[in-house]
Amino acid sequence: MSGICTGCGLPEEICVCEDIAREQQEIRIFVDTRRYGKKMTIVDGIDAGSIDMDSLLSTLKNKCACGGALKEGHIELQGDHVRKVQKVLSDMGFDSRID
Ligand SMILES: [Zn+2]
Repeated sequence: MSGICTGCGLPEEICVCEDIAREQQEIRIFVDTRRYGKKMTIVDGIDAGSIDMDSLLSTLKNKCACGGALKEGHIELQGDHVRKVQKVLSDMGFDSRID
C-alpha cells in the first residue's frame, strides 16, 4: 500500500515534488583553481533539503568519470567539467548556469 504525498497531493509513486524542486534550483557551476593550478568544478546553490545530494554526487562522478566530494552546501568535482556537468544536470531536469 502506498500513500498520498503530503507535498504535492499525488500518490507517492508518481510524486512530482522532486521534479518541481529540481526546476526551482538556482544552481551555479564554476571552476575553482586551487593550489598548484589544480582545477575543481564547483556545483553550488543546490537545496540539500529537497534534493538527494548523495545520489546527485554519484551521478556526476559517474558521468564525468572523476572524483568528487560533498561539501557543506555544494558539490566539488576534480578537474574542469563545467560543460559536462551542465549537460548532465539539464538531462536530470535541473536548471543551472555557468559562472
Ligand atoms: Zn510529492
